[in-house]
Amino acid sequence: MFGPDHAEEQYRALENHKECDAGTKNIRGSELNKLFPYINDEGIETATFTDNKSEGWIDPFLFHSALKHKAIDLGAEFIKGEVKNLSEINAKTIISAAGCWTKELLDDIPVVPQKHTVFRVKCPKHIPEMPLTGDLTTGVYWRPEGKEYLAGSPISVFDAEDLEPAWNDFEELVWPALAKRIPAFEELKLTGGWAGYYDCNKLDNNAVVGKHPKYENVYMASGFTGRGLMQAPGIGRALTELINTGNYQTIDISVFGVERVLNSSARPEPYVL
Ligand SMILES: Cc1cc2nc3c(=O)[nH]c(=O)nc-3n(C[C@H](O)[C@H](O)[C@H](O)COP(=O)(O)OP(=O)(O)OC[C@H]3O[C@@H](n4cnc5c(N)ncnc54)[C@H](O)[C@@H]3O)c2cc1C
Repeated sequence: MFGPDHAEEQYRALENHKECDAGTKNIRGSELNKLFPYINDEGIETATFTDNKSEGWIDPFLFHSALKHKAIDLGAEFIKGEVKNLSEINAKTIISAAGCWTKELLDDIPVVPQKHTVFRVKCPKHIPEMPLTGDLTTGVYWRPEGKEYLAGSPISVFDAEDLEPAWNDFEELVWPALAKRIPAFEELKLTGGWAGYYDCNKLDNNAVVGKHPKYENVYMASGFTGRGLMQAPGIGRALTELINTGNYQTIDISVFGVERVLNSSARPEPYVL
């Protein structure tokens, strides 16, 4: 959901969705209530949604485990240990996928930890059909999690001292934003929360993927800035193609190339929730 400040940007983004056959639909804020009767549309200029069941959410731990087990079945060997320097790895091909710790191994790549807090809340009135929703007028997003909901704080912190959740954000920002947008949320209760690090690409909040031009055998997959789970399958496939054939075959993600970061040619991602 977008307010007047983000509407134009979103209309441009929709042209790209269309070209990519993303299946998104767009409606005016004033029409939201017809489809989502539990939403208060005040201040919403436009909203984008899907209704073809092509979107949803998954358990990140299960997804990660499933991919890892399949890789082991296919012959991958996992070795646990800390790499201090890429030069200590003796391999034909290295893919640096060090997440928010990327800069420690490749200091020309500005991918660093950015602390984000997520809250778990319970509401007496459960709305199971509620989709994953982002409200760009407040920067708060939420989605059902079993009989409860997860809701993200709009505040993020670089150079955080620890991963203690920013509990004050709940009372001061998240609850008011949720209650304004979904009146049923006025009655919600906080049941938990946690914080983690986004793998933030400080240049432009976009992924850094491809061959690192300063090395013979180093490829990168990093800087997903809070979207790595969603992008992982496509990134994996595209990198496999690049490494095995020298070019992207089915998914061309050269816009995320390492050169753009080294040359500071930003390709900014405006929406980081
Ligand atoms: C609160 C929160 C909510 C999120 N929500 C979403 C979401 O809704 N959707 C989504 O798509 N994404 C989301 N993300 C982002 C997603 O979790 C990340 O983008 C994703 O985990 C990045 O995957 P990765 O494999 O690149 O890095 P990571 O998962 O961080 O893995 C990096 C690995 O490299 C290892 N490593 C690092 N340095 C070294 C070293 N020197 N030697 C050896 N090993 C090393 C680390 O131990 C780690 O295992 C969220 C993140 C947070 C914190």
